[in-house]
Amino acid sequence: MYNSSRKGGKHRKQSPNKGRVAMVAVTTGAVSTAGFSGAAAGELTTNKTAEANLDFELAADSEELLDVVDTAAEGVIEEAAPQILTITEYKPVEDLSNQLVKAVEHSAEVAAADLQARMPNVVKPAEGAFTSGFGPRWGAFHSGVDIANANGTPILAVMDGTVIDSGPAQGYGNWIRIKHDDGSLSIYGHMESLDVVAGQRVTAGQKIAGMGNMGFSTGTHLHFEIHPDGNTPVDPAAWFAERGISL
Ligand SMILES: [Zn+2]
Repeated sequence: MYNSSRKGGKHRKQSPNKGRVAMVAVTTGAVSTAGFSGAAAGELTTNKTAEANLDFELAADSEELLDVVDTAAEGVIEEAAPQILTITEYKPVEDLSNQLVKAVEHSAEVAAADLQARMPNVVKPAEGAFTSGFGPRWGAFHSGVDIANANGTPILAVMDGTVIDSGPAQGYGNWIRIKHDDGSLSIYGHMESLDVVAGQRVTAGQKIAGMGNMGFSTGTHLHFEIHPDGNTPVDPAAWFAERGISL
């Protein structure tokens, strides 16, 4: 055990020298130009460390390096300049790293803005008071939201799409259903007047009807539903909130 431990210690003792030489070789151009040869590096990797280390010491104290120091001391800046440039060349690499990070961040911002731009334009279907939310109500399920206002208040298409129904419907009095380009379906109920017909193309914000109190309704309001998959209603308040619109 003791001998084995000593061998280990002896082996490790050589490692710092090898590491030091390698580090200097890659970070300081002056060392390689001052005579630290590829042959010496090769000998290092084959564990002929004594000879290689000797070469390295000579390289580090080489006359070329000392000449640079002497020349600079004598005030001949021009000849010392290349050595300074060799070192400062590493700083732009750090700057480049920062620039790459900034470029990636900028790319992400552009992608987010592009996604926003390609999202369908969405508008609120009517101005008014939010009087009833999505969820269980009166022993049934209220599959939309209610927005109350004066009779005839403009009802607007929430997105571009095609009208698939415009007319009387059980419970809704009158309803309008619009199939949107993303596959979603919006439903509007209780309207007093209808401005569009089935098959008609409408754009977001276009007036499609006037608010009313038709059908199963206890006051003039719009009943609005949104079915993102075309079949299943979700809470319109949350759906609008995701698009930056509060009801
Ligand atoms: Zn309702």
